[in-house]
Amino acid sequence: WSSKNFPWTKKLEANNKKVFGNHSFRPNQREVINATMSGCDVFVLMPTGGGKSLTYQLPALICPGVTLVISPLVSLIQDQIMHLLQVNIPAAYLSANMDWTEQQEILRELSSDYCKYKLLYVTPEKVAKSDVLLRHLDNLHSRELLARIVIDEAHCVSQWGHDFRPDYQGLGILKQKFSNTPVLALTATATASVKEDVVQALGLVNCIVFRQSFNRPNLWYSVIPKTKKSLEDIDRFIKENHFDECGIIYCLSRMDCEKVAEKLQECGHKAAFYHGSMDPAQRALVQKQWSKDDINIICATIAFGMGINKPDVRFVIHHSLPKSIEGYHQECGRAGRDGQRSSCVLYYSYSDYIRVKHMISQGAIEQSPFASGYNRNNFANSGRILETNTENLLRMVSYCENDVDCRRLLQLVHFGEKFDSGTCKKTCDNCLRIKSLIEKDVTEIAKQLVELVKLTGQQFSSSHILEVYRGSLNQFVKKHRHDTLSLHGSGKHITKGEASRVLRHLVIDDFLVEDVKKSDIYRSVSSVLKLNESKVRNLLAGGQTITLRFPSPI
Ligand code: ADP
Ligand code: ZN
Repeated sequence: WSSKNFPWTKKLEANNKKVFGNHSFRPNQREVINATMSGCDVFVLMPTGGGKSLTYQLPALICPGVTLVISPLVSLIQDQIMHLLQVNIPAAYLSANMDWTEQQEILRELSSDYCKYKLLYVTPEKVAKSDVLLRHLDNLHSRELLARIVIDEAHCVSQWGHDFRPDYQGLGILKQKFSNTPVLALTATATASVKEDVVQALGLVNCIVFRQSFNRPNLWYSVIPKTKKSLEDIDRFIKENHFDECGIIYCLSRMDCEKVAEKLQECGHKAAFYHGSMDPAQRALVQKQWSKDDINIICATIAFGMGINKPDVRFVIHHSLPKSIEGYHQECGRAGRDGQRSSCVLYYSYSDYIRVKHMISQGAIEQSPFASGYNRNNFANSGRILETNTENLLRMVSYCENDVDCRRLLQLVHFGEKFDSGTCKKTCDNCLRIKSLIEKDVTEIAKQLVELVKLTGQQFSSSHILEVYRGSLNQFVKKHRHDTLSLHGSGKHITKGEASRVLRHLVIDDFLVEDVKKSDIYRSVSSVLKLNESKVRNLLAGGQTITLRFPSPI
């Protein structure tokens, strides 16, 4: 597909330069364009900032007819249309919250003989719910003027993805109705199972898949334990490494966003917050100030990010645990789009895990903007999705608690990509820190921890179990007379970090199960450890060894 001998090649190159102002193509852009212009169904996995828009905007410009683009978010669509109109490509959009006469006008243009639009953007619920739109598409199609159907952010189709959006599932109807119109599905994030799901739901046949490495060599990754002093750390980190540069700080709750922004302002940074309960005008203002560099730092929930094409974001800081590795990768991906070195720092604490987990089970977490429909319908509470979300979160936890393996490797494994950690060249904290690793048998520690959970009646949190294990005599330990247990203090000689890693491993590997103790206030959520009886029986009977890798003392 990389051939330069297609009938459209000359036109393609000329317009890429003249209209879009690009000197060349980025990886896979030419290939994708050639495949879709040949009439094939195409599935594209390209990291954020890879240049997906060009792969349909350029064909739209040089093909006769109208390209239909389904995109999840009105603000993203408006941003795209603004760019298109700036370069004189006629484009329009239809969304449910537009007034009716405006919609009528666009529809009328679509059915005119010489429809001027090259691209028509719609939100997915428009396709699912508007017979009028489908009739107009039918009409375009019968006049051979429906050039191509583009599904942007295609991973929203899949329940396995991190941004499932029910309206996307109705998009299969497009291929049923317009089977000879080429479909181009685009996403920046998809694991193998998500890809399969999307291909099936959209009804793509013999589709050609383009994927490229999701590794972003210019992003430097690290995970730092979150403490009470983390805000001061963040202030110092920015001042030392990214003074007066642009960055995003992702926070879990709206209140966190405001708190973090306020603190950074006090420290002299040009910071603002951004979240879902601000009114649209306020949000637009913050976005505008940010794009003009009047504000350097945005403290935001994941509602912020889409449609933000700022190339010079120098750092992305996660003030709390992201809810999945896919989401994390995408959020980090907003840094360094210009290819310059940028930092991705994640502050991790186990208590944030408990908090996120509880918020997920309550459907209370602020989703990325695509997922608004999903939130509204409160799918978050239902079985399979809750399970997927919890599983995704646990993977994120094990990513954070891993202080041994290359961060890039850990992320890319998740996308089914092979990666040689030698290529990281010490651009992540783990590669930087570790000279050599030693494998350690931790079976005895594991058994003792499990015994402790059993002895204390499966009603205590992991931090309490660790306290007892390491011989603490705090009031809570005494109150429950856990200082009288035979295993009290049996882990005195083991560091807290090591004991905690083993305990975490027991949860992640399903020997122990975390049960969230509910409370009205998210902030005071606690969890208790329970036994997974069958696995524990086997472990205690000596049927299993557990090993963990540790950095060797240098
Ligand atoms: P994605 O949707 O994959 O995140 P975009 O389509 O928004 O990425 O493109 C990211 C940025 O890269 C945009 O600013 C775009 O103008 C720029 N870009 C895309 N293709 C090229 C190219 N071939 N040469 C130079 N810049 C490009
Ligand atoms: Zn590394």
